[in-house]
Amino acid sequence: MSSKKVLVTGAGGFIGHHLVDFLKQRDYWVRGVDIKEPEFSSTTADEFKLLDLRRWENCLEATEGVEEVYALAADMGGMGFISQNHAQILHNNSLINIHTLDAARENGVKRLLYSSSACIYPEYKQTDAEVTALKEEDAYPAQPQDAYGWEKLISEQLFTHYAADYGLETRIPRFHNIYGPEGSWEGGREKAPAAICRKIAYAKINGESEIEVWGDGEQTRSFCYIDDCIEGIFRLMRSDHGEPINLGQDRLVSINQLVDIIAGAAGLEIEKNHIDGPQGVRGRNSDNSRLEEVLEWTPSISLEEGLGKTYNWIEQQVRNKK
Ligand code: NAD
Repeated sequence: MSSKKVLVTGAGGFIGHHLVDFLKQRDYWVRGVDIKEPEFSSTTADEFKLLDLRRWENCLEATEGVEEVYALAADMGGMGFISQNHAQILHNNSLINIHTLDAARENGVKRLLYSSSACIYPEYKQTDAEVTALKEEDAYPAQPQDAYGWEKLISEQLFTHYAADYGLETRIPRFHNIYGPEGSWEGGREKAPAAICRKIAYAKINGESEIEVWGDGEQTRSFCYIDDCIEGIFRLMRSDHGEPINLGQDRLVSINQLVDIIAGAAGLEIEKNHIDGPQGVRGRNSDNSRLEEVLEWTPSISLEEGLGKTYNWIEQQVRNKK
């Protein structure tokens, strides 16, 4: 049986690594590409190439002979990283996306999924913790907070125009805070759920009862478990929806509530020491009306379940290090 050949870029990273496993279970032939191997378990890709996708010739090699591309490669991290590396992020991600798209066109790729982000939404719609959930059309007039979000917005435009002018088919999910096992949990690129799991795991192991939380902890977000994200990516790729679309949960929680849920998973009572630190926008939530309409599906894994699995995995990582 001949299975469809696909490319996953960023296959050494969190979402890409999980996506490769998912596609392999569905009998795709998968090429993974990244500048690094997956950190926590081996790839299941049929072929894994170490390539720097900022370079055009590497993008040509990566996209050769595949029908579909899941473009997940990006220089990215949590708020700590994003708020301190604007030039690097804008430079690297622009090169990755322009060259990936151009090379895919050159090689006759039929369909590409571009991983956009909730960070494209304008700052002026996210000033209140009790934020109104963001609809896709709220993206304009544009005013993303960081260079990371500006690049995502420009690349959304680039993919959309390539679809209109050159006939490529594009799919553009805007991810809202994806979390789960096998994501970065230390080193500076980790995002809030993983960082809080790590702090609580260290507190538990060291017999402490307090962790540091950036800001007053009243900033709000929605968080989506990795399995739901992968299911949504796959359903969107198989749909005929070419416009950008939210992909996330729509349960709004504060960072303080997130800490309490994770502490519950760890079986601890935790005191929060609020310190200065980058917080991003004050509040952000996903309006999932379009997702439901287009895919007849929305993410369903509860925060308690997803954070429980994530916490257990991170506690194990911390114990393995000690
Ligand atoms: P990740 O950092 O774990 O994965 C990204 C991967 O891209 C990394 O493995 C990295 O090595 C690779 N990469 C970076 N520069 C590269 C280069 N020059 N050439 C080849 N590979 C390169 O991040 P993730 O969480 O898996 O995110 C995947 C995609 O989803 C990214 O585009 C990200 O911006 C987007 N996204 C993620 C979230 C989230 O909450 N995780 C939210 C919104 C958008």
